Amino acid sequence: MPTINRFVMTSAAIKVTFLGTGTSQGVPVIGCQCEVCASADPRDNRTRSALLVESQQAHFVIDTGPDFRFQMLREKVSRLDAVLFTHEHKDHTAGLDDVRSFNFLQKKDMPIYGRKHVLEQIKREFAYIFAEHKYPGIPSVETHIVDNKIFFINGLPITPVEVLHYKLPIFGYRVGNFAYITDAKSISEAEKEKLKGLDVLVLNALQHTEHLAHLTLSEAVALAQELNPRMCYLTHLSHKMGTHQNTAAGLPPNVQIAYDGLKLEVF
Ligand SMILES: [Zn+2]
Ligand SMILES: [Zn+2]
Repeated sequence: MPTINRFVMTSAAIKVTFLGTGTSQGVPVIGCQCEVCASADPRDNRTRSALLVESQQAHFVIDTGPDFRFQMLREKVSRLDAVLFTHEHKDHTAGLDDVRSFNFLQKKDMPIYGRKHVLEQIKREFAYIFAEHKYPGIPSVETHIVDNKIFFINGLPITPVEVLHYKLPIFGYRVGNFAYITDAKSISEAEKEKLKGLDVLVLNALQHTEHLAHLTLSEAVALAQELNPRMCYLTHLSHKMGTHQNTAAGLPPNVQIAYDGLKLEVF
């Protein structure tokens, strides 16, 4: 485990929970009878990709996909200090309405973080949240624009990492020695520098065959070997990837397939 070369020091370990590890349709896919969609292995049941990060300073989620409410209930989450968005696609934003449960519990607005164009898209898609005259009981959020530089949530430093999702620049995030990258197809050499010396790296891997906007399994494994974290976990999987068991069998020792509910301590 690397104890030197830390990009940003944190005072304590962070705990991360994979809320969801599936691609945009989730697994199983509606109406699909394939081996993966029919699998009895709970690891082959993948809700839409999102992550919970818990540190002493802050508890936050990265993305609120369509399964956000179910994920919060499954993981019994009762505190949420912020939402960080990677990008504006629906499988990463559709569940935003349910942050109102946290508004009621915590009696304050939910800070949401994202690139300027992501927040603008959210304002269009959830126009009622931002209306001048609000209907009672709707979510209340406080928007924070993320540029490609370090920002803080309750004093916890977060480093955005810009990656390309086909031609769309989107953000992954680094916290201490942990980084979460989803929906990437490529990462520039300059941004890769932010992903050195990691304890745990999460990377997206869609399927075996080439895709315009997502890393394939072999591309993700090659990138993991290049960046060389202590451990790499793959997320945002399609049913075309194959079963968890079969896919995991062929991987190098420092690369594993994530699954919904997987929890890690990162130092
Ligand atoms: Zn996605
Ligand atoms: Zn299927």
